[in-house]
Amino acid sequence: MIKISNLCMALYLLISIISCGWERDYRDAAVRSIQKDTDLILVPYPFNLLDNYGGEASTLSHFSKEELKEIMIEHDLSWDDLKENWGWEESHPEFEKEVKYTSHYTNYSYDSNIPIWLYGPKWIRSGVYSDQIYQQHIPSIYARLLQHPFEKEIDLKKFDKVFRETKEKPEIIVTIIVDQGGDQLYKAHPNSFPFLKSFKNQSAYFKNAKVAHLEAHTVVGHAAIGTGKFPNTTEVFSNEVYTWKNGKVVSRPVFQGKDYQLDLSQFKSLTLADDWDYANNNIPVIISQCYAARASIGMAGHGKDIPIELLDKLKSYSSNSSPDRDFVYWANSLTLRWDTFDKAFEVPSSNQKVDFYEFYLSNKGKVISTFEAKDRVDFSKKVSLFQSSEYQVALDGYTIRDSIEKEIINKSLHNDKVTDLVYVTLKATDAVGHAFGWESKESERVLTATDMEIRKIFDFLRSHYDDKFLLLVTADHGAAPMHVVSKGSFLTHKNLFELVSTLLPEAERNNESLIQWVTHSQMSLNYETMKKFNVSESQIIQLLSNFEMDGKPFFRKIWTRQDLGVEPR
Ligand SMILES: [Zn+2]
Repeated sequence: MIKISNLCMALYLLISIISCGWERDYRDAAVRSIQKDTDLILVPYPFNLLDNYGGEASTLSHFSKEELKEIMIEHDLSWDDLKENWGWEESHPEFEKEVKYTSHYTNYSYDSNIPIWLYGPKWIRSGVYSDQIYQQHIPSIYARLLQHPFEKEIDLKKFDKVFRETKEKPEIIVTIIVDQGGDQLYKAHPNSFPFLKSFKNQSAYFKNAKVAHLEAHTVVGHAAIGTGKFPNTTEVFSNEVYTWKNGKVVSRPVFQGKDYQLDLSQFKSLTLADDWDYANNNIPVIISQCYAARASIGMAGHGKDIPIELLDKLKSYSSNSSPDRDFVYWANSLTLRWDTFDKAFEVPSSNQKVDFYEFYLSNKGKVISTFEAKDRVDFSKKVSLFQSSEYQVALDGYTIRDSIEKEIINKSLHNDKVTDLVYVTLKATDAVGHAFGWESKESERVLTATDMEIRKIFDFLRSHYDDKFLLLVTADHGAAPMHVVSKGSFLTHKNLFELVSTLLPEAERNNESLIQWVTHSQMSLNYETMKKFNVSESQIIQLLSNFEMDGKPFFRKIWTRQDLGVEPR
């Protein structure tokens, strides 16, 4: 007898073969990311956004006409239309415009195309490689250089040509993530990253690197880089999950457990760092830094707090120790210091003392930025602006170099023959991109600062490690063009919940929801409520498919598990 799942798979393969480019890639990403209780995958038309941060806040952004023109050509958008509506002065090369929040989560090229630079001449053959590569390949590349049997989900075979034959291992592997630094950012500002441009000639540059999962979100990209696994395995599939309670949207950030405490048992895969550290009796130094916890945890993993079922997987190593606390830390916007989760991680002692406001004061005049705060209280109110400024870039670079120096080099652990793993995310590019648009001059200046900071990290590694280090630079995701440019529509989660609630009697709409939870791409339905009010899955699909915003349909596809050839719930 043919099993249902085999039939589903056959149907899925048939659909995959006949579907066109964008749809095939999008479907593959959905299949790799679907959760056990997901019912529907929501695919918007290009440039449309479903996001909780409703786009009410406006920011005054600045643009170069020439750069913007190139962006519009790249994304098939009408330049004449924009020229007519924006009313700028013909003679000025730059102009300003109020813009609304933009974001990222789809599998369209602006969200999913990313660059990868891989440097380490002892191990890597430089050149431009056109093979498609995913973030999930990264830990496999490291494991190969470490000659370490890390469990892989995807094969490295086609990349054999990239590696040199050697038994020598790097003393340190450093991974730098430029947050929201997809191809779209570099194409928008082609003259603003001189270091990375020249770095292309010294490294293996992968021009067809791609986010191969849904959603193109920070935590998902970082967990891919940490684990090499897809969200259907890691269960890390969105920065936050939304539910409906008393007529309001409730947002639960990833890894948040009871009483707003971190719960690392929600992260269902081991990272390479978890595995490598344990297998080597905690001798490797693991450092992971980003001002957002979801990013530093996604790359480093579980530290000392490895859940029992994952710990069992490590038992095959003849290690005689239990997991230790790694250096994994993020910003606390209230204390204005680096913070961590003591049960699993720690902050390097030299960086426990760093105060962000003091750092700002002592770097005034050295860092070129329009950010200003008149005192500590003012600074506290403006933390999000600080985080999207060149000061944050400088703080991130300073802190990670200091951590490496104090925790590895000064303790002579760099030449202990066991490779240390260091991860750092330069996140200001993401914050400025969300608020001002990656097309803006504001984003361009932060990219310039980020490029300079990467050069400093590279020079620092060269001076301490000579040629015995490996450095990888990539992104967690790209982002959508601003709405004023793309004319995309913006649907909030509140409006989505309210839309689906129209299938319920009016009096029940605040207390009941047909949606159990929703992210940006995945939706789980509440079967009990559906049964109680006699609403079917196909009614919900029809409602969503017919939904229009700004006179156009919002969703391009609503896929069921069956459409994707995935086992039923
Ligand atoms: Zn991100």
